Amino acid sequence: MSGLPLQGLSGAGLRNAASAEPLGLYLHVPFCKDRCTYCSFVTTRDQGLQSATVEKLMADLKAWGAALGRPAVDTLYLGGGTPSLLEARELADLTRVLRESFDLSPLEEATLEANPGTVDLSWLEGARALGWDRISFGVQTLDDALLARLGRIHGGAEGLEALDLAAQAGFARRSADLMVGIPGQALDRVLGDARTLASTGLEHMSIYLLDLDKACPLKAEVDAGRAALPTEDEVADAFEGLQAELPALGLEPYEISNYARPGGESRHNLRYWRRRPYLGLGPSAASQLGAFRWTESGVIPAWLEGRGEAEIQELGAAETLAELPLLGLRLHAGVDWEALAVRSDAANLRPLFDAWTAAMDRFEAGGLVVRRGPRRCLTGRGMLLSNGILSTFV
Ligand code: SF4
Repeated sequence: MSGLPLQGLSGAGLRNAASAEPLGLYLHVPFCKDRCTYCSFVTTRDQGLQSATVEKLMADLKAWGAALGRPAVDTLYLGGGTPSLLEARELADLTRVLRESFDLSPLEEATLEANPGTVDLSWLEGARALGWDRISFGVQTLDDALLARLGRIHGGAEGLEALDLAAQAGFARRSADLMVGIPGQALDRVLGDARTLASTGLEHMSIYLLDLDKACPLKAEVDAGRAALPTEDEVADAFEGLQAELPALGLEPYEISNYARPGGESRHNLRYWRRRPYLGLGPSAASQLGAFRWTESGVIPAWLEGRGEAEIQELGAAETLAELPLLGLRLHAGVDWEALAVRSDAANLRPLFDAWTAAMDRFEAGGLVVRRGPRRCLTGRGMLLSNGILSTFV
């Protein structure tokens, strides 16, 4: 059991926490060819660590599969970093150990994250043949100058080429990330990129706001006045423009930042917002089983040596209950408020629920929340101002 974050909890305790519900399984592959100027993820350019990382991931898969009694898994997500930097043989080894260690019979979705400029047809065909059926590309923008500013390793044409290669390789389920808020990015460019990406027939698009909260080279440029971020109004215009444009292109919103064709939602990511259990392996990967939660070390050498294990946190009843609206309101379908009332009563937390309801009534009066049957949902404007609304539950 060494290397597993089991401080304060036995394997049997974890098995009970995991319950009979299938898990989502996330693996973090912390390598990139180069570091983007805005990146704050746990990733390294040192590919000398790659084979040791794959070995450690495989050892952890075996250990966790055994500790949890070879549990059922219904969604897989290989994220990063740049998982498409894995050698075909490494991906095959990881997939084999996954199948040996976990029961994948209920598997509904297996997603690979990939970056343009790191895939070719043969690698993609190999991944598809191993059973990976969904691919998500970090396209960000199709503008070469903006991509250069972001320190991306690819141009816009390579973003489109990667999506095309994935289709040729048999990936019917393709997604692209589109970034908003890049210095120098005009509204027309955002909407034009969305149209071009939708025209490739992809089934899913994630819209991200450039986040410069943490120290990074692009933040230093902005702080020094060498690059100017778009204003809040410009960013809001871009999000509102996409809210109007993407449904017309067949991509419906299902979460604050995510749009999909019917049935094309990311089932793995839905589990986070629905607060379903997941196990994350790899540096910085987070797990949640029942009321228990932990995050692995984000320092790659420490993670490789099995050091920096996080202590398991056990969430209290109020924290657990608050996560239902905190996460669920991000979804377009919102939260079943009547079911939340029942759960609040069962947890003896009715006063907390009443306070939330009063806040939601105020947001509704302000046009930020709407009721649909028993459900309460954010309006389009509520989604733009979601931080303020969701802070009600923190
Ligand atoms: S590709 Fe993603 S993880 Fe890798 S450096 Fe760029 S932003 Fe970071």
